[in-house]
Amino acid sequence: MSKIIVLIGAPGAGKGTQARLLQERRGIPQISTGDMFREMKTLDTLLAREVQAIMSAGTLVPDDVTYRMVEDRTSRRDCANGYILDGYPRTAVQAQQLEGLAKAQGNEIDAIEVDVPRDELMKRLTGRRSCPVCGEIYNIYSKPPQAEGVCDIHTNAKLVHRADDNEESVSTRLATYDEQTKPLIDFYENTGRLKKVDGTGDVEEIYAAIEKLI
Ligand code: AMP
Repeated sequence: MSKIIVLIGAPGAGKGTQARLLQERRGIPQISTGDMFREMKTLDTLLAREVQAIMSAGTLVPDDVTYRMVEDRTSRRDCANGYILDGYPRTAVQAQQLEGLAKAQGNEIDAIEVDVPRDELMKRLTGRRSCPVCGEIYNIYSKPPQAEGVCDIHTNAKLVHRADDNEESVSTRLATYDEQTKPLIDFYENTGRLKKVDGTGDVEEIYAAIEKLI
């Protein structure tokens, strides 16, 4: 039976960084709903404009829209042997929808909570920068690029600061996490599928802890 690895944790906990490493080193596809919504930015459609407004505010895209995107993406052949979900599910409804999807796909779900204290999250989020070409994530405080403002790999790419990584959106995103997503930790714990890692400290140490669990 193939596995769906759900990475769960507050915005800024490092889910994206770890999911990208797992994809790179273990070949497990990383499905990031946030990245997929950000990619919609280039589309000039009503839905894309709505999604953009929701993301800027730091609230959540409707469950059904999100689910259809996940269902569609995970039906691709590269997901046949399992995949990592980064940023999904985020609500109780999404968690239930995922239960149905996993069943239909014949997959088992394992949830890994990446735990980081609140005061650290704000700094991580406001300091976060990413490469618009490859998506590599940097942080001006804890993981600066070799040359200021440019990607180490794509040296002609200027790093970008996500529009929703400003203090106001970050506060809303953290509150949304507390209200809607955090209860999912209990859901996975109560169904015996939750594992936890300490998300503070070195990226490689956190990766090693996650690798041991999967
Ligand atoms: P992220 O990159 O995971 O922090 O996601 C950025 C934004 O995309 C979120 O603040 C939401 O507006 C939207 N988003 C990402 N994943 C979901 C999801 N599972 N459900 C609803 N909205 C989402």
